[in-house]
Amino acid sequence: MLRIGLTGGIGTGKTTVSDMFGKLGARIIDADVIVHELSSAGMPAYKAIIDMFGPDVVDESGGLLRKVIRQRIFANAQLKAKLEALLHPLVRAEIDRQVAENSRPYCIISIPLLFETGSAYNIDRILVVDAPQEVQIARACGRDNADREAIQKIINLQSDREFRIARADDVICNDADLASLQAQVNSLHEKYMQLANDRRIPA
Ligand code: ATP
Repeated sequence: MLRIGLTGGIGTGKTTVSDMFGKLGARIIDADVIVHELSSAGMPAYKAIIDMFGPDVVDESGGLLRKVIRQRIFANAQLKAKLEALLHPLVRAEIDRQVAENSRPYCIISIPLLFETGSAYNIDRILVVDAPQEVQIARACGRDNADREAIQKIINLQSDREFRIARADDVICNDADLASLQAQVNSLHEKYMQLANDRRIPA
């Protein structure tokens, strides 16, 4: 099974790229979705998060106030590290479980904070989606209605472009239109199909 870890900064186009791979037949596994599921009421991380942050991070219906949690960890690096230590082993295990049950030729595993969290994942290649900062800001602002200062703060906290690119096996440059993006995804899809196929044939 070929496992591609997909990452990139905020607003670079990770979701758009993974949707394109999904339409071409790849299995998509999303670490953010897994975190969301693991921390839903009754799921493995739910109670531990409430114990860590206190009862005021729960709304009337029992759901976690994720925005409040995000604000708290933004302001407290120790708390952030503690939350990551709780979540990452669970996320890794769930990714591995989903990979094991996959029957498609390859998986795209979206891990937005692949470099920031320092966690080791079972992946074969790293695919980075890259875009110039101005493009990141414009796209993230356009999508979330956020102001550019807020996006800039997040960019400053994330790994820089050169760091990511230096560690990538493949890079998608998303600085133009969607047709250009689709063409790059198509060509990587061919490459990954070939690599997946090569693995199936015993040497
Ligand atoms: P985040 O890190 O915030 O989750 P992301 O990396 O997943 O973001 P997307 O949500 O895929 O990024 O893209 C951000 C916005 O930019 C979306 O509204 C998307 O439709 C748009 N977008 C992405 N790529 C392009 C492109 N090549 N041309 C035009 N719009 C694009």
